[in-house]
Amino acid sequence: MKEKRIGIVGAGAAGYFASINCAEKDPHAKIFLFEKSRKSLTKVAISGGGRCNVTHACYEPKELVANYPRGSRELLGPFYVWQPNDTINWFEERGVPLKTEEDGRVFPISDTSSSIVNCLRESAEKSGVILKLQEGVDQVEKDASGKFNVKTSQNNNYELTHLLLATGGGKNAEGYQIAQRLNHTIKPPQPSLFSFHIDDPILIGLQGLSVAKVNVKHEPSGLEQSGPVVVTRNGLSGPAILKLSAWGARVFADCNYTFDMRINWLGSTKKEAAQSQLSEARNTWSKRLMVSDNPLSLPRRLWKRLLTSSNIDLKTQWAHVTNKQLQSLSQTLTERSLSVKGKSMNKEEFVTCGGISLKEVDFKTMESKLTPKLYFSGEILDIDGVTGGFNFQAAWTTAMIASMAVTNS
Ligand SMILES: Cc1cc2nc3c(=O)[nH]c(=O)nc-3n(C[C@H](O)[C@H](O)[C@H](O)COP(=O)(O)OP(=O)(O)OC[C@H]3O[C@@H](n4cnc5c(N)ncnc54)[C@H](O)[C@@H]3O)c2cc1C
Repeated sequence: MKEKRIGIVGAGAAGYFASINCAEKDPHAKIFLFEKSRKSLTKVAISGGGRCNVTHACYEPKELVANYPRGSRELLGPFYVWQPNDTINWFEERGVPLKTEEDGRVFPISDTSSSIVNCLRESAEKSGVILKLQEGVDQVEKDASGKFNVKTSQNNNYELTHLLLATGGGKNAEGYQIAQRLNHTIKPPQPSLFSFHIDDPILIGLQGLSVAKVNVKHEPSGLEQSGPVVVTRNGLSGPAILKLSAWGARVFADCNYTFDMRINWLGSTKKEAAQSQLSEARNTWSKRLMVSDNPLSLPRRLWKRLLTSSNIDLKTQWAHVTNKQLQSLSQTLTERSLSVKGKSMNKEEFVTCGGISLKEVDFKTMESKLTPKLYFSGEILDIDGVTGGFNFQAAWTTAMIASMAVTNS
């Protein structure tokens, strides 16, 4: 049998996971893992605020795919093959115990990403992966016999039987150029998972405040999300905002991150329902100060701000608030418009929307439909998830499927 020489480009999460699994499945194959920088796994090391949110405790593929603004349809089949439970077992079998936090995010018990980084590095070394650090892949050509001729930044040439591109995302990712030369189309890369810049008096001085169940809606596209929101130095962040940014990544890029959105500080409570709660409070608490007693369990600082921005004096007793003022307050509570002017990347996790067009990839194998023996894994694909461990899961799954296909071919 002819020797398999597998080239894996990019020593990030997807490249490492694919290399290890190729090497373990086919100990006779020669596996080269090329990394252009001095260090491997740099994103894994800084991920999840240094703790590495390795996956998400969502074990039903149909539910899991709902967390991917791009790639949900394509990932369904792959998740039946390799899903979060498999990822958890894989790391635990290699001596990295994991824990699930209340919101479903999975981290190493050690609370440090180095547990994941060391596990991947040790597993690769043990299984015989040939790591080529500071050896970026510059050029790839496919010859008449079907082999890949790879030229690296060290001026070395490699003749390979299989090539897997796992070069990640980003605006100018080199992997896109390599893929384009091998017949592929790139969906324009745009950032996903970002916070909104909002310069509005209602938020001034509220930095650090967090509200548990807020609804944010972009009316023109109909996109909306609910969940916690956090007031930042220059606007809003938190899970609801990050999710909205992910689902609206293209829409918001098209309007240069300048748009209006509606905020409902009470989540799904409608204006009329809010107003009747407020009227009830007026009847019950007549002698008490509005600022001291808030019937909607909102943080005190926010409640105070909502009162003043609805022209309600902070010395007003519940008995003295007018119907008009209550109308204005319920409007501010549930339908306030905020103008977004710009974005900031989320420090905890950000990803690229865009990449290799999914139509050109067979998701049973991760092989290119255009160039045989060429495979893709991870963020180079036009796949991205919301925050919570979903991006790494897409990397582990696509890498595992590719490694199965490469070693079986
Ligand atoms: C700050 C931050 C925190 C994050 N935290 C989380 C988290 O907690 N949970 C989660 O699920 N997701 C998280 N993400 C997203 C997650 O890190 C990525 O989705 C994931 O790393 C993608 O893996 P990848 O292997 O496809 O790409 P990458 O990790 O980007 O790896 C690609 C590698 O390819 C190399 N490369 C590129 N071009 C070449 C070339 N021509 N030759 C050789 N090598 C090349 C690059 O140097 C890089 O090392 C975070 C992202 C960021 C930025």
